[in-house]
Amino acid sequence: MRPASRSPQQPSRSTSTTTRPIEVTPDLERRLMAKVSPEPTSGCWLWTGSVNTSGYGQIGRGGKDGSLVLVHRASYEIHRGPIPKGMVLDHLCRCRTCVNPAHLEVVTNRENIRRGVSPIAKHMADTCCRGHQLDEANLRVELKWKKGMLRESRHCLRCERDNRAARAARRTQEAA
Ligand SMILES: [Zn+2]
Ligand SMILES: [Zn+2]
Repeated sequence: MRPASRSPQQPSRSTSTTTRPIEVTPDLERRLMAKVSPEPTSGCWLWTGSVNTSGYGQIGRGGKDGSLVLVHRASYEIHRGPIPKGMVLDHLCRCRTCVNPAHLEVVTNRENIRRGVSPIAKHMADTCCRGHQLDEANLRVELKWKKGMLRESRHCLRCERDNRAARAARRTQEAA
């Protein structure tokens, strides 16, 4: 056995799409902040644009590059500076669509996995990111296979309705 190498571990390649450096431009900041809706109760800055299959907000890098970056990472870099290489952001508020830099903390990926919301904690959560009660009448539970595991995601029907209405209103506005 060789002694453990002192060189820092390289992040695995599979995470490279999310950790690729983000080029912060005034255009990116403008497009990002245009789709943020502050939530007065929690202080979350909720993203109202498109989300990926894991529920995280995403936005185009801009320019000729059509690829997407995660909005919470972009927001952190805009407001607080570059995320150190190989590090991930942990949502202290547990709202994946929140882009408030004050709710984001730089941690190692291992720390983030350790902190992850346990299935029990998730079941206990009885309100959404906007503070709506997630009771039977307002909850949509979705089961999805992901990486060989059955994952449960919980959606607030009222927020889904509001988001749809907001998107429709924006489309009408843009078309006008
Ligand atoms: Zn938040
Ligand atoms: Zn809600």
